[in-house]
Amino acid sequence: MKADLVIKNCQIVNPQKTILGHGVVVHDEKIIGIEREADLPDAEKVIDAKGNHLLPGAIDPHTHFGFYTDPRIAKGFDVECQTGTQGGLFGGITSAIMMNTLSSMMDSAKTEEEVPHPPDREMFEEIKKNIEKNSVIDLALRPWIRNHQDVADIPYYADVMGIGSFKFRNDVFPGSPTNKVTGFHGVDNGTLIAGMEAIKKVGGIACMHNEDPYIIKEYTARIRKQVEEEGRTPVLEDWTAGRPSVAEYEALKSNITLAQGVGIPFYGVHTSPKESIDHFAKCKDEGLEVYCEVVSHHIIFNKHSRFVNDPDGWIGLTIVPFRDKEDQDRIWEGITEGIVDCYGSDHVEGIPGQKAIMWDRDFGNSEVEIHYPCMLSEGVNKNRITINKLVEIAAENPARVFGLYPQKGHIGVGADADMVIVDLNEEKTVTYDLFPTLKNSITLYEGMTLKGWPTMTFVRGNVAMENGKITAKMGTGRYLTHKYSGYLRH
Ligand SMILES: [Zn+2]
Repeated sequence: MKADLVIKNCQIVNPQKTILGHGVVVHDEKIIGIEREADLPDAEKVIDAKGNHLLPGAIDPHTHFGFYTDPRIAKGFDVECQTGTQGGLFGGITSAIMMNTLSSMMDSAKTEEEVPHPPDREMFEEIKKNIEKNSVIDLALRPWIRNHQDVADIPYYADVMGIGSFKFRNDVFPGSPTNKVTGFHGVDNGTLIAGMEAIKKVGGIACMHNEDPYIIKEYTARIRKQVEEEGRTPVLEDWTAGRPSVAEYEALKSNITLAQGVGIPFYGVHTSPKESIDHFAKCKDEGLEVYCEVVSHHIIFNKHSRFVNDPDGWIGLTIVPFRDKEDQDRIWEGITEGIVDCYGSDHVEGIPGQKAIMWDRDFGNSEVEIHYPCMLSEGVNKNRITINKLVEIAAENPARVFGLYPQKGHIGVGADADMVIVDLNEEKTVTYDLFPTLKNSITLYEGMTLKGWPTMTFVRGNVAMENGKITAKMGTGRYLTHKYSGYLRH
């Protein structure tokens, strides 16, 4: 038999070890062998990796493609799914979990009010078709549970749509920017507990944005008034001051307490303050089933960061906000100490030319293009983390937590051939021209020179990106069912 693909002359990276002197054999989209160079079989296509590293494709556990449905700013799920998943190939992402509202993913553009509860099978088929039509990577879906109606839909999501993780936010207070563009509020603790009980029945996991709405409402009003009295333009530090660390770690503690009380596993998204990392460490010491996610922009930037042509730092507004230098340091420590489990992007395609004032702006930054590169550059090449640790938090752990392992998340026999050849010495400066997927978006990384880039990305054995060019055909991505797998080494 002739194999479909052989990748030779590479250093094969998994969390446990780096394998030298071997190549990878791929057939029918799967890895069928890891063989000594001398024993590699014939193949339709042989790729010489020139001694570079071969990483498992990243599984981004936190994306939003087509998140905004407000017609004033929405680009459409089809548009953002195409740019988001193609952008992901540049950054070495081969699978992702996305949190969107169902109405945003339908061809027939239903309004929220028109979405049936529970969503019918026809609707799910349409969503699945729409995902597979527009994606070039494999995608799983995580619904946003906003109210009791959504809570009642949880059994349907699990049984019909094959979904095992559910997103909650408690930060969205009436009048907050997210409330203005989505019309929704965060959950109160009563709704949250009801949601957690429903999740327990289906064996799922709660994924939470942790921020106390009343603390941020209080602080935002206070800092906004102060800035207005001083008659100055608000800057990035003011945004952070309006959403202080205490709002995040107090909500984290409370949400973990509720999950523990109900008896379900807990996953904290985009963890940013050092106190939250410390709290995760404490909970893990106690043996709680809790998982900590961090995302690219909190690792790379802080509240003092400034960006090209942006002296006030407004493009750096994120929810939750950038913290301080010590918080960044604690995240790096948390990664090496095994407190941080997963690395995500929180990619929300940006909207260029925002005119609204800081407090009322909508948000979004394209993060997927630099997903592996920013960690290879600032982490691996600066000796903060090993390349094995990187693939652990970027690929294997997300696959293990969300039940995609052993199909995905590692380079091993029987796994999907989702892989990335990485040149650790390649240097590129991020510009809007470097990635066509940034054309109508915003990047925080403009002007930054990063060292360490994917040169080739394979999705199920198909060359999907080569030397900065997308070669994947539209619609080659698949809808992924997922579940909470209940297993992770701490
Ligand atoms: Zn998010």
